[in-house]
Amino acid sequence: MKNKTVENIGFTVLGAGRSGSGIAKLLKKRGARVFLSESSPAENLLYFDPEDIKSYNIDYETGGNSDRVYKSDYIIASPGIPYKADILEKARAKGIKVISEIEAASWFCNSPVIAITGTNGKTTTTVLTGELLKNAGYDVKVCGNVGLAFSEVINELNSNSVVVLEVSSFQLETIDCFKPHVSLLLNLSSDHIDWHGTFDNYVNAKFNINKNQDKYDYVIYNSDDSNLRIKSHLFNGRKCAFGFSESSAELIKNEDLEMRCFVNGNGDIIYEKNNIKEIITNRNEILIKGSHNVYNSMASILAVKIYNVTANIIMKTLKEFPGVEHRIEPVREINGVKYYNDSKATNYDSLSVALESFPGNIVLIMGGKISPFQGVNDFASVDILIKERVKKILAIGQSKEDIKKYFGKFTDVVLFETLEEAVNAAGKFAIKDDTVLFSPGYKSFDMFSNFEHRGSEFKKFVNKI
Ligand code: ADP
Repeated sequence: MKNKTVENIGFTVLGAGRSGSGIAKLLKKRGARVFLSESSPAENLLYFDPEDIKSYNIDYETGGNSDRVYKSDYIIASPGIPYKADILEKARAKGIKVISEIEAASWFCNSPVIAITGTNGKTTTTVLTGELLKNAGYDVKVCGNVGLAFSEVINELNSNSVVVLEVSSFQLETIDCFKPHVSLLLNLSSDHIDWHGTFDNYVNAKFNINKNQDKYDYVIYNSDDSNLRIKSHLFNGRKCAFGFSESSAELIKNEDLEMRCFVNGNGDIIYEKNNIKEIITNRNEILIKGSHNVYNSMASILAVKIYNVTANIIMKTLKEFPGVEHRIEPVREINGVKYYNDSKATNYDSLSVALESFPGNIVLIMGGKISPFQGVNDFASVDILIKERVKKILAIGQSKEDIKKYFGKFTDVVLFETLEEAVNAAGKFAIKDDTVLFSPGYKSFDMFSNFEHRGSEFKKFVNKI
C-alpha cells in the first residue's frame, strides 16, 4: 500500500524514542490526527525534543500514559513495549489496531526496501549491505535500529534510493501490509523469549517479514540454519539461499532457487545463478573477522546482486569494510598485541563467535550483569573454546565470581573491581602476537549505562595504555 491516505485518521504513538517521534511527525505531515504519549519523564528521553514536536502541532504527554491514548483508530507501539502489555491488550479489546512504526512508515515508501532480520548479525549485515550499494552508486538509506528510524528517511527518498532496513522481531510482530522487495533471514535461535512468550511466537514474528512478499520479491535465507531451512518451502517470492559448507550447498541444490551463495573448499565465496558460478572473493579477503561474518557477507552479496552490483565492487568493499563499532572492533596494536572491543557481546552466543574468530593466544576480559534467563550464560557452550584458546581471563562485574568458579578449571582467572584495572593488567600480561579481547558475555547494566558506553570506556582505557 503506497501513499495511504491518513487524513483525519487518529493515531496514538506510544513511546517518544527516535522511531516514535519520527512516525508522529510523518503522520502529522500527511494530515493524520496524532497524539504522542510517553511513560517516562521528558528529561530521561534521549531523542525527544518538545520544541520540535510542538512545531509540528502534535499533542503529547510525558511521564505517564493517560486514557487519551485509547481515543484513536491506531496505536503505534514502540518496539520496547511487549505485545501482551496491558496497555496494548486494552487497546485491542477496544477495537484499536496496534501496529509498529515500520508498518506505518511503509505506507509512504515508494522506494525498494531490503529488510534484514535474524537473531544475530542484523546491524552488521544492514550496514554492510548499505556500504555495498553506496559503492555501486545508489542513494542508500540505512535505517531501522541503525541510527535513523525508517520514518525519518521517507521524505528524503528519490528515484535512485534503496532503503536498507534493520528490523527486529518486535517490529515484525505487528505488521499488516509491510512488503519489502528483498527480505533477509539471517538465523534464528532462542532469544527474546521473555518478550514473545514462546519460541514459536518469535519464529512466526520473524517470518512476517515474508508474509506479504510476492513472486516479484526475493527472500534470502541461511540454509545452514535448520529453523529456517525446514520452513523454506513455505516462503513466498523468489528464494535465494546461502550456506557455508559444500554439503550445505548440496542440501539446497534441489530447491527451486533463484540464486545461492556458498564457500568452496578453497575458501572462495561463490555466487551462483542459472547454473553459472562466479567467484566473488576469498573468505580470507574479508576484513571483518569470524565465520559469522562470512555468513553476514554472503547474505549481503545475494541482496546486492539483485541490484546488479558487480563482483569487483563487492570484493573491494569486503576488503575494506571495518565492521560496526563494538562488534569485534579493532582498537589498537601495541608492541604486537592487538586489542579488540566486542562490548556488543551481551550473551554467551556472541562470546562464542568472538572466541571462534581468533585461533588462540587470547587474553579475555569478560563479565557483567548476571541474567535471570537460562541459556544466556550457558558456561558449557564456551568451555572448550576457553580451554583451547584463552591464556587468561580478567573478570569484572557482578558475574566475576561465577566466571572464576566455572572457568577457573580451564584457565587462569583473575578478578578486578573496574574495567580500567583489567585493561591495565591485560596490557602488562599480554605479549607479542597475543590478542586482548573484550567480549563480556554479559549485559552491561551492572557498571555501565549500555553496551555502547561500556565499549567506549574500554577504548578510552586502551588508548591510555
Ligand atoms: P544484531 O543487530 O542482530 O544484534 P550485530 O551485527 O550487532 O547483530 O552483531 C551482534 C553480535 O552477534 C556480534 O557481536 C556477534 O557476536 C554476533 N553475530 C553477528 N553476526 C552473527 C551471525 N551471522 N551468526 C551468529 N552470531 C552473529
